[in-house]
Amino acid sequence: MTLTTRFAPSPTGYLHVGGARTALYSWLYAKKNGGDFILRIEDTDLERSTQASVDAIMDGMNWLQLEWTHGPYFQTERFDRYKEVIAQLLESGHAYRCYSTAEEVEAMREEAKAKGEIEKYNGLWRDRTDYPEDKPYVIRFKNPLDGNVIIKDMVKGDITISNTQLDDLIIARSDGTPTYNLTVVVDDWDMKVSHVVRGDDHISNTPKQINILAALGAEIPAYAHIPMILGDDGKRLSKRHGAVGVMQYRDDGYLPEALLNYLVRLGWSHGDQEIFSREEMIELFDLTGCNRAPSAFNTEKLIWVNQHYMKTMDPEYVASHLEWHMADQGIATDNGPALSEIVKVQADRVKTLKEMAAISTYFYHDFTEFDEKAAKKHLRGVAQKPLEVVKAKLAELSEWKAETIHEAINSTAEELEVGMGKVGMPLRVAVTGGGNSPSLDITLELLPKEKVLARIDMALAVVAERIANS
Ligand code: GLU
Repeated sequence: MTLTTRFAPSPTGYLHVGGARTALYSWLYAKKNGGDFILRIEDTDLERSTQASVDAIMDGMNWLQLEWTHGPYFQTERFDRYKEVIAQLLESGHAYRCYSTAEEVEAMREEAKAKGEIEKYNGLWRDRTDYPEDKPYVIRFKNPLDGNVIIKDMVKGDITISNTQLDDLIIARSDGTPTYNLTVVVDDWDMKVSHVVRGDDHISNTPKQINILAALGAEIPAYAHIPMILGDDGKRLSKRHGAVGVMQYRDDGYLPEALLNYLVRLGWSHGDQEIFSREEMIELFDLTGCNRAPSAFNTEKLIWVNQHYMKTMDPEYVASHLEWHMADQGIATDNGPALSEIVKVQADRVKTLKEMAAISTYFYHDFTEFDEKAAKKHLRGVAQKPLEVVKAKLAELSEWKAETIHEAINSTAEELEVGMGKVGMPLRVAVTGGGNSPSLDITLELLPKEKVLARIDMALAVVAERIANS
């Protein structure tokens, strides 16, 4: 039998990091075992489900490259099937019509509460057949009255729940629509899901689902309930903590590999290894190695992982993501160095691709003004001579290479008997517009010679004006 996992989001918002981690663990477990991974959209809550959320979830999955082998299935397209199963449960005596009104059910709960018992439906219609005419009814599942349900949880270990704790839950509302626990059960059964990996906020649903599956004669899947993700303040991760939607991490300049690596470690470990390639994750991941306790999201660590991937992945690949940020920031890159060259010189200077794009503008766009602070400090009278000399030397170069450029800067400093910084800093401000850049020889090599000379002229004009005004 093929091992099958699924990711079953409700499309009521974007794909958040908690959901992405659940999807990742599900996907990894299927991949590792050569199994199938299903994407199922649980869109039965018509009021809260939106197409925009469906798109956002799929965008997130695609960006993270968590490809599904089946689906996406939509629960709203499966109502006939749910009705069929509800009829089957009625037929086999595992479900019954309940004509109790909401007020009556409320009164039963109150009564149980007053007696110190578990608040639940008292089973009034469980065995009755004297159905009133033209009265609305819901359909309830006949939960076993005794015995235990044991969840053999791959993360949390065995969890035993007494059936006396469980209600006869509603599986169809008075308008005939199925409820959440019923749809999940039918889908997991029909889709032959062998391993249910989901957040532990669903753990209270699991015994109910196991009982329904058993009533249907279905195989009970294995369960793995993943503890939730907390913010750095120990509270459940939410918008308050900053970015929580996966696509926001793209927008903020993270590589998908970095987010995946960060998420796999958030709740799972393999010795003290921190960096896992996609292949390594697939090979080493195991549900039984997941933490039982919640984990706290730590942006500093995510940044560290992101820097690792920006520096070590194929620059061509990193460039394909940088390209998105360049476009996002309105930086046209058709005239200028290959983006992979930018990745090579900037990767160890930034935290994110967004930052990398922002500090690389001068490679592609001319500027009309220098950074005020940098110009004030470095484009002064004393810079005139060094700029003139270095410009002349650069102009003469027949080969525009980092080595020859380096030599031109060096010999200028020697000739004028000044330190390298007295030449380098004004030149840096002249060519890049500001006081920060990768090493000058490489920076200049990446720009066309004429552009460099023109920018030095522009800087010399600023210097001349300052001399005139002083
Ligand atoms: N649709 C549920 C949710 O988004 C998940 C259900 C499940 O995984 O069983 O929370």
